[in-house]
Amino acid sequence: MSPIIDRLALIGVGLIGGSIARAAREYGVVRSIVATARSEATRKRVVELGIADQVVATNAAAVKDADLVIVCIPVGASGPVAAEIAAALKPGAIVSDVGSVKSAVLKDMAPHVPKGVHLIPGHPVAGTENSGPDSGFSELFVNRWCILTPPDGADVEAVEKLRAFWSALGANVEVMTAEHHDMVLAITSHLPHLIAYTIVGTADELQTVTRSEVLKFSAGGFRDFTRIAASDPTMWRDVFLANKDAVLEMLGRFNEDVSALTKAIRKGDGDALFEHFKRTRAIRKGIVDIGQDSPAPDFGRPHPDLPHEPLPKPYASEKG
Ligand code: NAP
Repeated sequence: MSPIIDRLALIGVGLIGGSIARAAREYGVVRSIVATARSEATRKRVVELGIADQVVATNAAAVKDADLVIVCIPVGASGPVAAEIAAALKPGAIVSDVGSVKSAVLKDMAPHVPKGVHLIPGHPVAGTENSGPDSGFSELFVNRWCILTPPDGADVEAVEKLRAFWSALGANVEVMTAEHHDMVLAITSHLPHLIAYTIVGTADELQTVTRSEVLKFSAGGFRDFTRIAASDPTMWRDVFLANKDAVLEMLGRFNEDVSALTKAIRKGDGDALFEHFKRTRAIRKGIVDIGQDSPAPDFGRPHPDLPHEPLPKPYASEKG
């Protein structure tokens, strides 16, 4: 493929920035990548990993001459970073981000972005519980959604260029308003994380069940919550602070539904429980049907001493 972007600048090289760098290079989406990170240790690691053509010490140096700048840091830091890079941005450049909340990012970044530079926030709805430059991998975005939230009056050509960029990384792209994004993600991602953080904390504080029993019998549902609850504390602190209203709205509805199920259990209302579980099972089937998860049974992690097949690389095989 001929490159879509000449010079890509990545500010922050963790799971998401590191995955963009690997994918953009592997699939020939950009001509060159310049990267920077807050700490010397991360910058050094990015050099060792060789996933960028150039690693520079400051955010301003990274964006100089870049055609596309993607800010890949916790959402609470996006405003100050936008202020820092503003004067160094090239006219006509696209500035985007990958933050899990969009209204707050738009509000924090927009005042700093100069005229003639196109701010188009984005959010790849793909991730793992791991952090840092080593955790990135090129297939992360394949067959996942990337949501773009251009502000009113955004340059159509710039939006299409960013859409082409994410499509070339393997993602499906959808465009919506930042407000709508925040409402959708509050229920599909933010609330589930809050529930996982809560339940793992609750289990940890139990007196009647020992911690070793919780770990030993974790396959009974708890294990999946622990994976989500291992997600980066800084990132998730910022998500809940930045998407407060939408999360509180969804949390209110959730609490009402928990109360209804609590009542059904207390009253021994098996029909109510059965009907509820039947409805939720259909939602799971819908997710598998549209290819957003696998129907394969989850037998847990492979035993280290047993041979097992390497994971398939769908994008590699699709691209031949
Ligand atoms: P990560 O692996 O922890 O990497 C974060 C990067 O941001 C690191 O390079 C870090 O630099 C830098 N950073 C942290 N605090 C900063 C600050 N105050 N100022 C400047 N740079 C800072 O995080 P990630 O998972 O890639 O997440 C990055 C963004 O992607 C977040 O906004 C998150 O909401 C969004 N996102 C995450 C996921 C996910 O599943 N993880 C999915 C979709 C979107 P140092 O290493 O030098 O500290």
